[in-house]
Amino acid sequence: MSVRITIDGKEYKAGDGATLVDVAADNGVYIPTLCYKRGKPCLGTCRTCSVRVNGNVMAACTVPVADGMEVEVNEPEVANMRKMLVELLFSEGNHNCPSCEKSGRCELQAVGYELEMMVSRFPYRFPVRPREHAAKHIWLERDRCIFCQRCVQFIRDRETGQKIFSIDHRGSHASIEIDVKLADRMPPEQVREAARLCPVGCILEKGVGYDQPIGKRKFEIKSIRERALERERQ
Ligand code: SF4
Ligand code: SF4
Repeated sequence: MSVRITIDGKEYKAGDGATLVDVAADNGVYIPTLCYKRGKPCLGTCRTCSVRVNGNVMAACTVPVADGMEVEVNEPEVANMRKMLVELLFSEGNHNCPSCEKSGRCELQAVGYELEMMVSRFPYRFPVRPREHAAKHIWLERDRCIFCQRCVQFIRDRETGQKIFSIDHRGSHASIEIDVKLADRMPPEQVREAARLCPVGCILEKGVGYDQPIGKRKFEIKSIRERALERERQ
């Protein structure tokens, strides 16, 4: 069954129950996301896709569309709220893009560009989170983690289904952890998958770095907005 919704005053048809963030993208309306990955279950952790639905602010990745729904995406106040959330993510970690292996391929950086972020309006916290390098093939740059939980939920031991990554503690003490024994059993393609899935430069494959020349990196070839609207896997 199809339903009618409006986004920024324009009417669209959509499948009943489809996810709002996907419906918007399918109709050419970009809503930034960081934890959400099309085709995978919603995590709802980063809130970067916040929009107004019938007057209430909600994360668009968590909202199934329903008939008559009125959505505001580019209304200035709600757009500014999304920008603020992204600025907060920058100020809560240590992000020195020019020296980061993920630069040009980083979803946080790419979303920052899309939202025309120049600098965070929040004070930088400069957290001290020691790097983790005990695993044979994985290096964790913990202070770049945005706690999206992609690695926690989607990267599991292939034999047992156990989680390889976890988040310890909460709030400003939160820290991404890795089960070194399980990590050392990951086949090379799973290590690469984990590094690709991490939206920032926190999960890195050892022995690989700066392997794509500037100008040829993913989001330099095609922006995160274009990729989202073309339904490409990011
Ligand atoms: S993780 Fe992304 S935002 Fe952070 S320093 Fe690296 S490129 Fe920049
Ligand atoms: S390590 Fe990467 S994928 Fe895992 S929670 Fe942190 S940012 Fe997300």
